[in-house]
Amino acid sequence: MGKDYYEILGVPRNATKEEIKRAYRKLAKKYHPDLNPNNREEAEEKFKEISEAYEVLMDDKKREIYDKYGEEGLKGRVFSDEGFTWNDFTHFSDIWDIFGGMGGFFRDFFGFSPPREERRGRDIAVRVNIELKDVINGVDKEIKVKTYDTCPVCHGTGAAPGSEVKTCPACGGTGKKKVVVRKGPFQFVSVTTCNVCHGTGKVIEKKCPKCGGTGRVLQEKTIVVHIPPGIENEDALRIRGKGEIPEGGGIPGDLYVYVHINMPKGYIRNGRDLLKVERIPFPIAALGGEIEVETLDGAQKVKISSGTESGSEIVLRGKGLPPFGGGRRGDLVLRVEIDVPKKLTKRAKELIKELAKELSVEKKKSWFGR
Ligand SMILES: [Zn+2]
Ligand SMILES: [Zn+2]
Repeated sequence: MGKDYYEILGVPRNATKEEIKRAYRKLAKKYHPDLNPNNREEAEEKFKEISEAYEVLMDDKKREIYDKYGEEGLKGRVFSDEGFTWNDFTHFSDIWDIFGGMGGFFRDFFGFSPPREERRGRDIAVRVNIELKDVINGVDKEIKVKTYDTCPVCHGTGAAPGSEVKTCPACGGTGKKKVVVRKGPFQFVSVTTCNVCHGTGKVIEKKCPKCGGTGRVLQEKTIVVHIPPGIENEDALRIRGKGEIPEGGGIPGDLYVYVHINMPKGYIRNGRDLLKVERIPFPIAALGGEIEVETLDGAQKVKISSGTESGSEIVLRGKGLPPFGGGRRGDLVLRVEIDVPKKLTKRAKELIKELAKELSVEKKKSWFGR
């Protein structure tokens, strides 16, 4: 069932927000990495864990999902070039919180942002729509992304052509500044971004006119994304390095492509299998015959045996979907519904009355009315 957030914080399952907050603050002080210089890594790990537990249990919606489904319930499935990974967000809008959220969190509690080793641009997310039939073989999709990219004039340096870029005198080129913060009896030594060079470690003599010295410009790019076969609705693909370039240059963020599958009317997907309701005219259901069925591979003739009842299932082997990445396809299961005609001609009425007589249901008048 994954991590037990209640156990991590040492609170009962019915703990109030106040109790959770108190438990968290106590543990956060105990495990804050800056207060554990001798076993910083271990403390960091623990700190991350309690912060995660705190974040979930303080959020009514997340807590409800967690109580019901456990940790897995909070995670969206994300596919990256390393295979499937579970990522810490549940839907589209949450993606912005991954990197922004932690900083805000630290600021709330300790009054500063966590030190960041490398300058990395933000991740971006886009949604792409595909058709259900595209799930069979996968599909290449052209998507438009508006993102910060390296400035074409200064090539990311931020300096006007011909002008000089110097090492920042305030931080000696590290881009960081040490700050001591006091909170009650505690003293936190924190590293923040240099306010002279804004973390770039460089000062520019004359700013690039195109990007204003940031080294990046907002650009619309077209990217072709290969969506592999077997993808599930709302799966995300991570494309490394296609996110934003940070101000002043650095490692670009990633691009997350959320895949939405347009389901044709009447289809239900169950992993590799597809379920579809198929309406059959009642004479064919009674006498047997052949109908034409729309499948993902086009129209197909399907035999109906005589006496087919409403609710029975016809399985078309291999007409479903492949597993993720491709492979043997599942089935298309047709659930039969008998089509009872609503508008009857005079002659049709006569014939049905005849039929009813023949089947000795004549007395049950309610069957066919008057
Ligand atoms: Zn520029
Ligand atoms: Zn500096």
